[in-house]
Amino acid sequence: MKSRFAPSPTGYLHIGGARTALFAWLWAKKNNSKFVLRIEDTDKERSTQASVDAILEGMDWLGLDYDEGPIYQSDRTERYNQVISELLIKGMAYYCDCSMERLELMREGQIAKNEKPKYDGCCRNKRLKDGVIRFLNPDDGNVKFSDYVKGEISISNSELDDLIISRSDGSPTYNLSVVVDDHDMGIDCVIRGDDHINNTPKQINLYQAMDWLIPKFAHVPMILGSDGSRLSKRHGALNLLSYRDEGLLPYALLNYIVRLGWSHGDQEIFSVDEMINLFDLSSINNSPASFNQEKLEWINQSHIKTIEVNELASNLKWHLDQLNIKTDNGPNINEVIDALRDRSKSLVDMAQSCNMFYKDFKEFDAVQANKIFTKDSKLILVDLLINLNDVISWKAESIHSVIKDICEDRDIGFGKVGQPFRLAISGDGKAGSVDISAQLVGKVRTLLRIQMALDYIDNITSS
Ligand code: GLU
Repeated sequence: MKSRFAPSPTGYLHIGGARTALFAWLWAKKNNSKFVLRIEDTDKERSTQASVDAILEGMDWLGLDYDEGPIYQSDRTERYNQVISELLIKGMAYYCDCSMERLELMREGQIAKNEKPKYDGCCRNKRLKDGVIRFLNPDDGNVKFSDYVKGEISISNSELDDLIISRSDGSPTYNLSVVVDDHDMGIDCVIRGDDHINNTPKQINLYQAMDWLIPKFAHVPMILGSDGSRLSKRHGALNLLSYRDEGLLPYALLNYIVRLGWSHGDQEIFSVDEMINLFDLSSINNSPASFNQEKLEWINQSHIKTIEVNELASNLKWHLDQLNIKTDNGPNINEVIDALRDRSKSLVDMAQSCNMFYKDFKEFDAVQANKIFTKDSKLILVDLLINLNDVISWKAESIHSVIKDICEDRDIGFGKVGQPFRLAISGDGKAGSVDISAQLVGKVRTLLRIQMALDYIDNITSS
């Protein structure tokens, strides 16, 4: 069995497209079936290579691997023309040379009479040899199908147009090529956005005209912005890859989008394996889902906290590269991740927090330093420098007991030591637990940075 994702490369891969892809991918995984990626690039004017690249990169980032493809419709023109010829020979398609003006007048007349605009069949019996090619839609009966999401659907043929299957330049139209492809590729279940549901009855008639098996359908409702209008650019980042750039884990995005319109009890957090096991097309909600940025961030944080450390490391790597952070010159990245994951809002946040462990800095954050590096803290930093120098086993526990001893000797709270210490080793004060951070920064770097803080204090007090 097979499912497919069939994007048109006329823009980047957006969240709605990604969700359709995920549903089709989950269906295939769940049914031990194959998943096909087909690039619907027959619209030459609007298709771009940049969009194709963004689709492939987005699929790759999400881990939605395909068993077949990418198959490009532009490589299959001959096959579409072959089917069009067959329909012409069978008398199920015909040429039409109606002018735009005539079609427009006809349309206006129908609208004025409150009729549904549709082609009047004027060229059906003319036996022309030129023009666009239209499919001869049956006049009688109904097209019935059962949609996994929308339920039973029945449309009267009298409402359907003789749709154009070949344009005047000889290029096939979407409805024709999609049917030929879904048939040739052996697609059992067509999962797509419900903006295509009006095309489905026309496509079913084409299957029937060709005597082909009709696949099953699932039309997925659209995604709305938090204000209830159709999700668009003004609701924020929509290009899928911009979510990667903002520090989302792909699994978190998958988790978030699977929940847009699908649920399993009250469960919010799903691993990819759980999604595969639990997913079921018939439990997709029939009403539109709304996008909620805060929830997406919350899900991302949950995954950052719990995902296997090597997996997290490989996703973080991309962000570290963006910041030019090289992890061979510092502590084991997995230990750093474990120290940071509970307080990281995103992978960008986590990568920024990695800076202090792998890069030396030349200056302290001025606002923090003016507040924290005082004469009093100089004494504490001197204590730290001397006592930490004597620590042999450079571990958080030993560092912790040095801090504790200073607190007891001076009869001060932990914060009085922790605050200047944290600023000294981080440069901006943004570090978690100070003893673990110092352990990861390493002894040599820690002592150098404390000395740097002392120099800073000397400088401001002498000037
Ligand atoms: N290429 C169509 C689109 O991007 C999808 C067609 C289909 O899934 O049948 O909207």
